[in-house]
Amino acid sequence: MGRVLLAAPRGYCAGVERAIMTVEEALRRFGPPVYVRKQIVHNTFVVEDLTGRGAVFVEELDEVPDGALVVFSAHGVAPAVKDEAGRRGLRSIDATCPLVTKVHKEAARMADEGFEIVLIGHAEHEEVEGTLGEAPDRIHVVDPARPGDLATAGSGRMSWLSQTTLAVDETMRAVTALRERFPGLVDPPSDDICYASQNRQQAITRIAPECELVIVVGSPNSSNSRRLVEVALNAGADAAHLVDRACDADERWLDGVATVGVSSGASVPESLVGELLAWLSARGYADVEQVTLTEETLTFSLPLELRSSRNPR
Ligand code: SF4
Repeated sequence: MGRVLLAAPRGYCAGVERAIMTVEEALRRFGPPVYVRKQIVHNTFVVEDLTGRGAVFVEELDEVPDGALVVFSAHGVAPAVKDEAGRRGLRSIDATCPLVTKVHKEAARMADEGFEIVLIGHAEHEEVEGTLGEAPDRIHVVDPARPGDLATAGSGRMSWLSQTTLAVDETMRAVTALRERFPGLVDPPSDDICYASQNRQQAITRIAPECELVIVVGSPNSSNSRRLVEVALNAGADAAHLVDRACDADERWLDGVATVGVSSGASVPESLVGELLAWLSARGYADVEQVTLTEETLTFSLPLELRSSRNPR
């Protein structure tokens, strides 16, 4: 029967682990309700699980009652949102991934130095909205697939940054296209695409050429999960699909398939990969081989507000 190649690393990254633990610890220390602005991480199962334990997910701060505790999601927030929380006297805990915070700081520094910044990313994504908020007058967002859409004459010094979860190859092609238009374009001091996105992309690139089908576990609004599907197709998989849960997979995808590749986005609990492996096993794909690109050991400590005994302000 068929076999499964299981890509590693997959699933939770250090930033997602930290963000989920932040909500769990806030619930434990302060009790429900703990308000969370936006989905803490982009995974339906995680959000439903935390909701059941007393987290209340809201889109904007005006849905948070005065005096309540609010957690900012892993994707980061614009300074204006933090300012508003301060003005309203809300208690807040910032679960922004430190690797997103790094991009915010870079954007603020470049803007202070007088650069115009091209932010390569998806305009509707919360991470991009947050980074843009560091210097809305100096940052121009451009989609990695359409660098030609950039709407600025670029008269001053130009630099670029990117969303942390983009596909590496597509982003570098966008930078090349931008540099043809702006030869003086200055690179950031280090890549913005985070280690977790890069590792998951490289791991799926390794297995995809051997697979007629790749299934990525991840929610539809998860940027890094969607990129894994694109990367798998570009790397040679005949077909690739994103599923939130195993029950979303379609048996017809397995027609004529000898090898199925499996991976999961950075916000996906391993239990959901286990569900998919059980679904595949029940259909004759019980021979599972894990293909490990690298071991990940990075961890982030909890936000300061949860490391001290004082209450968040
Ligand atoms: Fe941080 Fe990368 Fe994980 Fe996003 S995907 S939370 S940037 S480590």
